[in-house]
Amino acid sequence: MALADDRRHQMFPVLDAAQVASACRFASGPPRRFAAGEVMFDVGDCDAPVWLVLDGAIDVTRRDGLGHEKPITRQGIGQFTGEVSQLAGRASLAAGHASADGCTALPIDAAHLRALVVGAAELGEIVMRALILRRVGLIEGDASGSVLVGTPGDAQVTGLQGFLTRNGYPNTLVDADSDEGREIVERLGILAADLPLMVCPNGAVLKRPGTAEAAACLGMTPELDPEAVHDVAIVGAGPAGLAAAVYAASEGLSVLVLDQRAIGGQAGASARIENYLGFPTGISGQALAGRAYNQALKFGAELAIPLEVERLVCAGDGDRAPHALQLTSGQRVRARTVVIASGARYRRPDIENLRLFEGAGVSYWVSPIEARLCAGEEVALVGGGNSAGQAVVFLAPKVKTLHLVVRGAGLEASMSRYLIDRIAALPNVVLHTRTELVALEGDVERGLVGGRYRNRDTGEEHPCDLRHVFLFVGADPNTGWLQDCVALDGGGFVTTGADGAGPGRSTSLETSRPGLFAIGDVRAGSVKRVAAAVGEGAAVVAQIHAHLAADAATAQAVEATP
Ligand SMILES: Cc1cc2nc3c(=O)[nH]c(=O)nc-3n(C[C@H](O)[C@H](O)[C@H](O)COP(=O)(O)OP(=O)(O)OC[C@H]3O[C@@H](n4cnc5c(N)ncnc54)[C@H](O)[C@@H]3O)c2cc1C
Repeated sequence: MALADDRRHQMFPVLDAAQVASACRFASGPPRRFAAGEVMFDVGDCDAPVWLVLDGAIDVTRRDGLGHEKPITRQGIGQFTGEVSQLAGRASLAAGHASADGCTALPIDAAHLRALVVGAAELGEIVMRALILRRVGLIEGDASGSVLVGTPGDAQVTGLQGFLTRNGYPNTLVDADSDEGREIVERLGILAADLPLMVCPNGAVLKRPGTAEAAACLGMTPELDPEAVHDVAIVGAGPAGLAAAVYAASEGLSVLVLDQRAIGGQAGASARIENYLGFPTGISGQALAGRAYNQALKFGAELAIPLEVERLVCAGDGDRAPHALQLTSGQRVRARTVVIASGARYRRPDIENLRLFEGAGVSYWVSPIEARLCAGEEVALVGGGNSAGQAVVFLAPKVKTLHLVVRGAGLEASMSRYLIDRIAALPNVVLHTRTELVALEGDVERGLVGGRYRNRDTGEEHPCDLRHVFLFVGADPNTGWLQDCVALDGGGFVTTGADGAGPGRSTSLETSRPGLFAIGDVRAGSVKRVAAAVGEGAAVVAQIHAHLAADAATAQAVEATP
């Protein structure tokens, strides 16, 4: 079978009679008959079930916010609808209607679908693969998802593109200055001051939206039940938080993951991770995060993005659980245990005019979006660590000249040998040692046009042409929201492993406050690597179980006391 046929077969498999019988056991309701042409689900519908076709067929189409529509496929007997949105009851990105002969189909809602992919091993694999490949197909194809209308390279446009792409939502950008862009702006009666626009898949138009508005329009963020007490609330959906979610949910704990931005954390900003076990050809941080996200959904973890935790509400010492998290949205979340997986944020070096160009010439990561924007241009990349090295290797082939600016005398002390060798083989990389970038020049109209370097030995400054700057100068822990509730070290990282556990109980990942755990980059002494963060995410679950068991035993003893 040709590769493309094989992929299409995996995307739209036909279940045999035994597999259909097995799938029927997971139905969430009785079979339903649809008349010819009847709409079974539409773009934007939340909680649309997967439909398993028992008779007739379903015509499935994709449609973007502007109403451009294209057929995806016709699902016949033994086939089923849906993509990863259906695992969590999120808004549908496709539409389906019964074909000319009508259709009889069996609904499988989100909870039953998750039970199927976990409980029916072989069938679960077929279904899960199909759901993921269909989402990938929507991202790669046109006529689906949101349409952004704005100026390419504008900070807000780039921010929205990054937000949608990093969270795995299909999107296209229409240049507001193109014929199509002008026609849309005129038709919608939009003023220049209202740009950028986001036209959601359901046709709703947002003017200059922030990520919270964009997420709400896409139906990304689940309703949070204020009465619910989760077994575990995880703050941060980077590698550490996602790993903890997968292991905790797969072991039957009720899990809520909150992230203020996107899945993948810092790793999501990595163009290619080459040292993560099991990926000999490397994997992009986004692809790795996407896989982990789907895995967490499959096991029933609830992921709420973008929601920022404003503060941890410190319970009194005697009042151990549940712990509470106050969100900037005003909501409050309660949980028996909290996992602090809030990682680190990029450090801002002291560069004149830096804030003026953030998101509009200055970036703290490199993705294909940024690479496209600086194709054929002069760029500077500041930093001498491994993440800087990876970014250089990814970016240099796409730009005119890449100026690599480091404070030290060379790269040897801070970068892995394989990256140094690869950089040495790139003809358009100019290494500036013992150098700092001290100022950026330009204005809102022209954008970033230049900068000034300073030699650290002589203090001499000299100007340079620059259209883009990438900063890879380390990160500080995201611990401001902890409000002094747990002990931190001198650098602001969360300390773990205090005394006080019962016999045979490890607390290596427990903070100074029982029931609160810290993992990944935010933890004092952690190894700042994806694999280490993932390992801690797996390990913390055993300690959570032990804590919950000890709490339950204490509660029982209190109840038994006359
Ligand atoms: C560009 C780059 C390339 C890298 N390449 C590699 C590599 O090749 N190999 C490797 O092993 N490591 C690499 N690293 C390091 C690796 O990415 C980190 O060690 C890893 O991401 C740490 O994971 P984490 O989950 O602990 O934290 P993070 O990845 O920092 O994730 C923390 C998450 O918490 C969220 N958050 C923070 N505060 C709040 C709050 N108050 N409310 C809600 N959410 C919050 C953030 O939005 C973020 O998503 C790279 C890092 C960068 C920046």
